[in-house]
Amino acid sequence: MVSTFPNSPSINSAQIRLEIRALQSQLVKWRRGIHQRPELGFQEKLTAELISQQLQAWEIEHQTGIAETGIVAIVDSDRPGPVLAIRADMDALPIQEENEVSYRSQHEGKMHACGHDGHVAIALGTAYYLSQHRQDFRGKVKIIFQPAEEGPGGAKPMIEAGVLKNPDVDAIIGLHLWNNLPLGKLGVRSGALMAAVECFRCHIFGKGGHGAMPDQTIDSVVVSAQIVNALQTIVARNVNPLDSAVVTVGELHAGTALNVIADTAQMSGTVRYFNPALESFIGKRIEEIIAGICQSHGATYKLDYWQLYPPVINDKNIAELVRSVAIEVVETPVGVVPECHTMGGEDMSFFLQEVPGCYFFLGAANPEKGLAYPHHHPRFDFDETALAMGVEMFVRCVEKFCR
Ligand SMILES: [Zn+2]
Ligand SMILES: [Zn+2]
Repeated sequence: MVSTFPNSPSINSAQIRLEIRALQSQLVKWRRGIHQRPELGFQEKLTAELISQQLQAWEIEHQTGIAETGIVAIVDSDRPGPVLAIRADMDALPIQEENEVSYRSQHEGKMHACGHDGHVAIALGTAYYLSQHRQDFRGKVKIIFQPAEEGPGGAKPMIEAGVLKNPDVDAIIGLHLWNNLPLGKLGVRSGALMAAVECFRCHIFGKGGHGAMPDQTIDSVVVSAQIVNALQTIVARNVNPLDSAVVTVGELHAGTALNVIADTAQMSGTVRYFNPALESFIGKRIEEIIAGICQSHGATYKLDYWQLYPPVINDKNIAELVRSVAIEVVETPVGVVPECHTMGGEDMSFFLQEVPGCYFFLGAANPEKGLAYPHHHPRFDFDETALAMGVEMFVRCVEKFCR
């Protein structure tokens, strides 16, 4: 029978799927084991131990202790060919889990509330499968287990430690289990997928005094209020309306009593955008607005502004390869959605600045099973059926790229 789908799965791909589905219970076991013992960024010792033990058991060459707890494994086909890297992050969050499940976090105040436990399980499953099927690809697959994605960021120190070199990586892929997409869907797009993350902290210095005698003071609360409002005009009036951007003031602190004019105020916030050209622009506008308003009131300020992560930008060709694989995996083009970009950030961006690649979203929500809480929520959990799908995505990308 002739299939109507453009990339109809071959007998070989049906076999790949069958073999990967057979790993499902093991994938769940790894994921739940890691879920029970969540570790924060650069402290992923137990997680790294589990990864290393497994790689050792499968005789996969690997190096541990990169950027504290990171691991790089190489599955070699023993034949010349390209080098594809697969990246999985390993860290948990400082959140107290509220799920009543058998695999609930046993580490007080820590939780895998973003799905990185699943990412490690998927990467392990991929490493195992590839080690058993070295004849099905050429070149090498480098699997990067990265610490501290949630901050302060493990990607950059891993790159500085040379994980993209020797052998030099030609392209990199990675995925995020994604509760903003239902199970069975994949989010793949070329260009910007996730936003740049920048942060600022500002102190406003006025002159305190009696709440009934404002003429003798410089009111840091009034100055701050004007700044908070004016900062919103950067997105509304300075950024090209066709570019997406966010300026959020998340903290504003001032004053100690209702009848006292506060001499200082502090505010902090975050900036997000996709277009790398905005990197120097928004920060500059923030300072101009703060300086201008402070000057008009006789106040002074101290501003700290820094970039946490650049935007996650996918390479056109690698994104096309991932998209074609995704259509095979979900068996229908409508299951692969490009409208999945988000103003959230990710330090996968640092890898993508070095080598072409594609980061994509693996739909994992299942509202019927109550698995639809957002990432970073104390009740976050995902449908584990997505784990095998993640392995299948990686394996098929390897077989398509490494030939
Ligand atoms: Zn997260
Ligand atoms: Zn995450």
